[in-house]
Amino acid sequence: MTTETETLCPCGQNDREHPHLYTDCCAPYHQNIKTAGTPEKLMRSRYAAFVLGEYDYLIQTHHRDYLGDLTVEVLAEHTPQWLSLQVLSTQTKGDMGEVCFQAWYRDGNNIDAIHECSQFVQEANRWFYTQGTQKPAIYPKRNDTCLCNSGRKYKQCCLK
Ligand SMILES: [Zn+2]
Ligand SMILES: [Zn+2]
Repeated sequence: MTTETETLCPCGQNDREHPHLYTDCCAPYHQNIKTAGTPEKLMRSRYAAFVLGEYDYLIQTHHRDYLGDLTVEVLAEHTPQWLSLQVLSTQTKGDMGEVCFQAWYRDGNNIDAIHECSQFVQEANRWFYTQGTQKPAIYPKRNDTCLCNSGRKYKQCCLK
């Protein structure tokens, strides 16, 4: 899959003053030029890979012992309209890491989130996703900043 070079990276690190272009952010991970040095970087690059359809990268960074029947084809079957990634917490202890996040998506008229605490393990200086625990989505309040990073209030943006 080709990606436009001027695209902002969808991995959730953009703000208005410091835009992260995809080419300078997660593209080097997806192209195997760089490896993600922390569980959070791997998490963000994996979310960006979901958004951009870089399914090979998702398979490569998913620990082989936990892949099960997951394939590129299976991943390509479920493609919601992704809205944003919110990283809620991240911790690393030696070769183990955990990242809790919400990945927001639109499914028809509904907005929902995958709220998950993902586990990561480091082997031979590479981080891999192993498995995650899913939790109920925590929605923003009506007057909170919208989950899509528009800068507007939730009630004036995606809640409409
Ligand atoms: Zn990125
Ligand atoms: Zn919004």
